[in-house]
Amino acid sequence: MSKDVLVSFIGDTSSQCNDTLDIPNEVWNVLIVDDDPLVHSSTRIAIQNVQFEGRLLNFISLYSAKEAEQFLEKSELPIAVILLDVVMESDDAGLKLVSTIRDIFQLKLVRIILRTGQPGYAPEIETIKNLDINDYKSKPELTRNGLYTALAVAIRSYSQLQQLEQTRRGLEKIVEASCDLSRLHGLNAYSEGAVLQICSLLGVAEEGLVCVRRHSDNPAEPFIIAAAGTYANLINQPLNNLPCPSMRKALDECLDGGESRIGELTTLYFKLSDDRTVAACIRSDRELSMLDKQLLQAFCASISIGFDNVYMTERLEEEAYVDPLLGIPNRNGFERVIVRQQQRFRPSLLLLIDIDDFSAINATLDQHYGDDVLRTACQRVQSLVNESTVLGRVSGDCFALIGPMTESDCDDIVQAFHEPFEINGNKLLLSVTCGVVKLGGSHSAVSANELLKDANIALKQAKEFNRGKIRYFDASLRKAAENRIALLGGLREAFSARQLFLHYQPQIELATGRLIGAEALLRWCNPAGKFIPPDLFIPLAEQSGIILPIGTWVLRTACLHAKKLLNQGHKDFRMAVNVSHAQLRDPEFIEQLRSILFETGLPGRNLEIELTESIVAEDINLVNQLLKQVHALGVTVALDDFGTGYSSLSLLNKIAVDRLKIDRAFISTLEQDAVDSHLAKVIVHLAKDFHLMTIAEGIENDRQLQALISVGCDEGQGYFIARPMDIDALERWILDHTDF
Ligand code: C2E
Ligand code: CA
Ligand code: CA
Repeated sequence: MSKDVLVSFIGDTSSQCNDTLDIPNEVWNVLIVDDDPLVHSSTRIAIQNVQFEGRLLNFISLYSAKEAEQFLEKSELPIAVILLDVVMESDDAGLKLVSTIRDIFQLKLVRIILRTGQPGYAPEIETIKNLDINDYKSKPELTRNGLYTALAVAIRSYSQLQQLEQTRRGLEKIVEASCDLSRLHGLNAYSEGAVLQICSLLGVAEEGLVCVRRHSDNPAEPFIIAAAGTYANLINQPLNNLPCPSMRKALDECLDGGESRIGELTTLYFKLSDDRTVAACIRSDRELSMLDKQLLQAFCASISIGFDNVYMTERLEEEAYVDPLLGIPNRNGFERVIVRQQQRFRPSLLLLIDIDDFSAINATLDQHYGDDVLRTACQRVQSLVNESTVLGRVSGDCFALIGPMTESDCDDIVQAFHEPFEINGNKLLLSVTCGVVKLGGSHSAVSANELLKDANIALKQAKEFNRGKIRYFDASLRKAAENRIALLGGLREAFSARQLFLHYQPQIELATGRLIGAEALLRWCNPAGKFIPPDLFIPLAEQSGIILPIGTWVLRTACLHAKKLLNQGHKDFRMAVNVSHAQLRDPEFIEQLRSILFETGLPGRNLEIELTESIVAEDINLVNQLLKQVHALGVTVALDDFGTGYSSLSLLNKIAVDRLKIDRAFISTLEQDAVDSHLAKVIVHLAKDFHLMTIAEGIENDRQLQALISVGCDEGQGYFIARPMDIDALERWILDHTDF
């Protein structure tokens, strides 16, 4: 809220508003404490029917200090002035009474005029000051005029003190109320707090309404956001539903006029920093005084700042909990939604919807297009669910739903994605994979974070084995995920404890049987002596990133061993090393490769890197740029597991590789199928057209070997030739098989 809209009240039109000080009693109460009855009667006669500041005096007569003490202890009447005799039961009974009034009864406002018949009994100046005595007069001094003047001064000073006291208490209340209010978050809670605090500040019944109008809404109809008293049930309803025409009119006028007004219906106007304006209306069951008005003004200034804070926290909340692109809860926001929904609906489902291959859409088209895809997908999902189900976006291309859905609702959502999407006038086909958790089951997690994790485990599982389908979470999945995490922990330990090592599988020229090199294969033997298959831990290492340091180590070790073999005279030995995509994409990879070759002294041409075929799913230009740098070091490149994955044969002339490594799957079926029509043959011939070498992996028997030779495959490896072995065994194997 800008500073210039701090509340200002316009001309007070209410006739009920009382501009004079609010003092509930219409008289000034004056105590006469004197043991001489004559003083009582003469005082009353002297000041009969005289008004002070518009009010008459009400005399109360007491005849001893003791009597006065008892009266003051019990009475709740506000006493303005005490005319007090000094000498009564004792010589200083009056002075003692003053001490009691000030120090024990803590009556600080009442003004005291001391009177004494004997001048010798006049108190010291010091005493007068200490006891806050207003005046000291000897009885002869108190003529009618003297008495009038003394009373007038005392009453004025009492009334001023009383006013100060009321203001002080009012301000104290404002500070207190503001502190209480500052603890309330959200526009509704804050507004309700404000109404209640204003009522309590003014001491009127809790009866009021707050409404908000957003100017960008069409129509810009005000809504009731807080209410106390009769209309408390109208929260979140349009102002038009308010059955009290006068209040409705007052609020409308307040919002239209942009000004606050005081009266029987007090309306207060606040402008928020965005396009919202707030109007509060309080009905007072008593007249409001000048002081009320001043306090209200001060309090409203504080409320204005409060509304500003509410607006700011709302903005912060929005940033923290709302997805800026789609305006639905983000991951943090969705976690809160889960908690809320869990309490509301039982049973319910948590569904993660992941758009398949979204990163490819983003990469091949552009990010704006990707945004449009997300928007359209969001709308489609939203149109399929009822209002009890909440949609959020928990990561880039992953939506989440939670609510009282059924399994068939989930099926419908997956099905709905099979309909083409119309984006910027183009048709786009999408598919989604889903992970679902049923909430409230005996095995189901409780915390939002855990539930999302479980749904994610199911999603990951579906991504891997049931793309485009739904996978329901069950406890075995969590167990498997936990096992994977434990395995990864073990791998980290094994790597730092140097428990990883390499085996080498010889590769030969098929036609001659001549050894040409070996493939380095990673091995992990756990402390219990059990080998853990690379197919199990390599994907984990890739997902977690630990493949980067491990891969570097593999490359260096394999190069060292290759160099050793070179030194033993096997000049053409070629070491093949598997390199993950993550490694290739590592910006330091080329530099690392260069320095490993340099350190180990292995010439580049004695090294080959094996990349899996799925590399073509990545940006082909980027991959080729990298491969060019690899080639510049003399290192050759083989496309591993060829034929299994994504690459269409037409990509072969686009990607800069030297060798195709025909996947094991095609070798094992070589015997059953007619060799002539077999895919292995097709691959070999195509490779020849593109001037690529071919190598077969997984040769397990002589028939396969002969079939490969007959189709013209250049090289091969497999158990029939040799199993993977450690470096010492390899050295011996080479010596034994120079004539293979
Ligand atoms: P790959 O690159 O396809 O490696 C060949 C796999 O086939 C090896 O399995 C090897 O032991 C096995 N093999 C060799 N001859 C035969 C045969 O005649 N019959 C059968 N059935 N299998 C045979 P391994 O060692 O279990 O490796 C599995 C996969 O792990 C490798 O597949 C490779 O993708 C990955 N891998 C192994 N070492 C590394 C490494 O250092 N770095 C990276 N990034 N991946 C590696
Ligand atoms: Ca390989
Ligand atoms: Ca392979």
